[in-house]
Amino acid sequence: MNSTKRWAANVRKVTPYVPGEQPQEKNIIKLNTNENPYPPSPKVFEAHQKMDVGCFALYPELSAASLTAALAEYHGISDREVFVGVGSDDVLSLAFLTFFNSGKPVLFPDITYSFYPVWAEVYRIPYECPALREDFTIDPADYKEENGGVVIANPNAPTSISMAASQVEEIIQANPEVVVIIDEAYVDFGGETVLPLIQKYDNLLVVRTYSKSRSMAGMRIGYAMGNEALIQAMNDVKESINSYTMNTESIRIGAAALEDEDYFQENLKKVMATRERTKEALETMGFDVKESCTNFLFAAHESVPAKEIFEALKSQGIYVRYFNKEKIRNYLRITIGTEEQMDSFLQAVEAILHWRR
Ligand SMILES: *Cc1c(COP(=O)(O)O)cnc(C)c1O
Repeated sequence: MNSTKRWAANVRKVTPYVPGEQPQEKNIIKLNTNENPYPPSPKVFEAHQKMDVGCFALYPELSAASLTAALAEYHGISDREVFVGVGSDDVLSLAFLTFFNSGKPVLFPDITYSFYPVWAEVYRIPYECPALREDFTIDPADYKEENGGVVIANPNAPTSISMAASQVEEIIQANPEVVVIIDEAYVDFGGETVLPLIQKYDNLLVVRTYSKSRSMAGMRIGYAMGNEALIQAMNDVKESINSYTMNTESIRIGAAALEDEDYFQENLKKVMATRERTKEALETMGFDVKESCTNFLFAAHESVPAKEIFEALKSQGIYVRYFNKEKIRNYLRITIGTEEQMDSFLQAVEAILHWRR
């Protein structure tokens, strides 16, 4: 049908990223998009209540200046080393557009965040995907050939596995002529950051998000940190597309969230404790579960196919993530929920396995 439209030949053809389902019915257990099961800090609630709707009449601050400053202070770096965007998807997408223009292929692993190939396609950036090792770890040697840039999620998704900062540094060091993006969406759950290395390498961009560890996926806040010149280049591209991406409420609330470090650390500890308990329980039931430094587990059962477990859980209102993709087809990605949610999940899995025998 499209071919009958005379303009169809000139449409930019893309295959969009497919996010996890966002079912709206009540009483479901949602363990499929790596959201945090706990609410953000009470400081966030206070800042939200203090919002004066009158200020919505005005455009927001340029460059989300107060949030940028708060993040710079929190991380002990300069304002000029921070770029804020509408979730890290916005930040990553803009970084692809800004830095990957050499015509040489950008490198990222074959199994990683599935938005990377989508941005490469939409911006027409060539890319290659070195295979993970058999055990799903990344081999730094694969990222030392000539390339147009490197993108590594560390810890990686959906594998949940973290790479040592020293190995990430090897990759950064081997690529002085291109930008290396390290996507640290999950680093707060036990990963090793390379943030201090932005002072040593001017080609390193570290990307973070409020969506997972800070319980604020709905506010859409992400940021990048790197050398001043990298941040300036991103700002120039951003200002050429949309001056005001961050809304006033996200800017204020994003800054308020940084004022409650105790709450933040407590929240992380709870999620990580639940993760380890869930991992052990799954292992007892015959699952191979990867060592996780994230708020999710990546698990395959020794005999029951992942798709079957996924469907059976879904029919009971328990949503996990299943990727029908070569190499990981037998794995489930299970977000860590509350203790109670994980109890229900484990009970359901046990019943499914029992019934199958
Ligand atoms: C969730 C996720 C993101 C995107 O998060 P935002 O909600 O857009 O901040 C980026 N990278 C990885 C690896 C993720 O898992």
